[in-house]
Amino acid sequence: DIAELKQLPEDAPVWPWVTSTADNCLGTECPKYSECPLMNARKEAQEADLVVVNHHLFFADAALRGEGVSELLPSANTVIFDEAHQLPEIAANFFGDSLSTRQVQELGRDALSEAAHSALDLAALNQTVAAVDKACQDLRLSLGEAERRAPWSEVQDTPAVVEAGTALLDALVDLEASLAPQAKTSRGLDACARRAAEQVITLKTILDGSAPNRVYWFETFKRTLVLHSTPLSVAAQLRAQREKHPCTWILTSATLSVAGRFEHLQKRLGLEEADTLRLESPFDFKRQAVFYVPEGMPAPSSPDYTATLTKAMIPVIRAAGGRTFFLFTSHRALREAAGLLRQAQLEYPLLVQGEAGRRELLDNFRSLGNAVLLGTSSFWEGIDVRGETLSCVIIDKLPFGSPGDPVAAARIEHINSSGGNAFRDYQLPQAVLALRQGAGRLIRDPSDTGLLVVGDPRLITKGYGRLFLDSLPGMTRTRKAEVVQRFFTYIANREHLQ
Ligand code: SF4
Repeated sequence: DIAELKQLPEDAPVWPWVTSTADNCLGTECPKYSECPLMNARKEAQEADLVVVNHHLFFADAALRGEGVSELLPSANTVIFDEAHQLPEIAANFFGDSLSTRQVQELGRDALSEAAHSALDLAALNQTVAAVDKACQDLRLSLGEAERRAPWSEVQDTPAVVEAGTALLDALVDLEASLAPQAKTSRGLDACARRAAEQVITLKTILDGSAPNRVYWFETFKRTLVLHSTPLSVAAQLRAQREKHPCTWILTSATLSVAGRFEHLQKRLGLEEADTLRLESPFDFKRQAVFYVPEGMPAPSSPDYTATLTKAMIPVIRAAGGRTFFLFTSHRALREAAGLLRQAQLEYPLLVQGEAGRRELLDNFRSLGNAVLLGTSSFWEGIDVRGETLSCVIIDKLPFGSPGDPVAAARIEHINSSGGNAFRDYQLPQAVLALRQGAGRLIRDPSDTGLLVVGDPRLITKGYGRLFLDSLPGMTRTRKAEVVQRFFTYIANREHLQ
């Protein structure tokens, strides 16, 4: 697992050299095929009775099967997806296409190194690769300096973007044309020619950006750019996948239902006919947890919202003895709260997302035992801190998706324009599931106790607040700061007695 090698950052330049991808693996044509550890692991998987993989590998396998390429995983008669609430997003990634300038530039470099031992005219190839390189840089520059994610339609007709996109396509077509004649002479060149042909097709479709049921969008980083084509709905592809390889799918997660109903997820995954079962939690939430919605909070859109909430939370954090996750729906709010908590000179260590890696922050949180961790979306799920180390989870606002996210924005527009109600059918259930995930960080064990705070007054003032309240576990509810203080005094006394 790359993330387990802490001494190497996840973006270390060595990774591409030791990572097997569909682009660089030569498969059965590789001279090392018989001794390759990856291939051996796959062979073992093929023979196993039970295989445990992550969602990404499952869908990578599904995507390969779709292309008729050899399978990674054995055919199974039952597939169990745990944390199945993540399936719609992960499937959309796998059934989508993307092309990064880094991928294109890597192809240029690989082509040059493979061509060194071939009959290719190196000087001419050098020129072609230089043109590809320059076109990548020009396309990145044409999208402005800022790092952002935006719909392709926003820039698609800008003259500088059209020019740079066409130049990149022409340069890639040239590269493909120079590699193709020599492809049969070496496996490496053959792989490069195939990659060039695939990149030409992907780039053409994304630049054109007109297929229905797709959203075309881009992400810019400091020097690079990624173009994406993401399906608006994966229901049809998943249905086709299940028809092609019929087997039982079992989806489990603590957050599949919204107010006790599964329709939202079933619709997104095309599983309308599925049998559903909702099992009660093994935890006694009424006894183990208090849910606090503070009184007197301004509207979340108010400019002093974060400051008011942070100040109101200082006595809560003190009562909890640190041991708090403070979760935010935006980086801006997180930075503001971090500044205010530092000014307040809390007597507990402050761990702030962005100031260290996620794993390091979590390890520190666990080992310090009285820390306050400030995080955004990546800390809302998949984190398991049991026991007293985490006694308080504060959520700043109801986690409605960012309106600036191009995929979400396109889905919203698509639902509304086809007669649906995107707020009711998509944004609201998504936010409910996200809130349930964030709240789920608190009680991880039958002996855990803790406080959940949601600062957002819309829980009470808006009609839809009821849907959130009905979807959260049945904790003891309060709006009074004194009840929170009493709760922590009770916990402290109990801990003292233990
Ligand atoms: S088969 Fe060859 S190219 Fe593919 S991962 Fe193994 S060693 Fe690398």
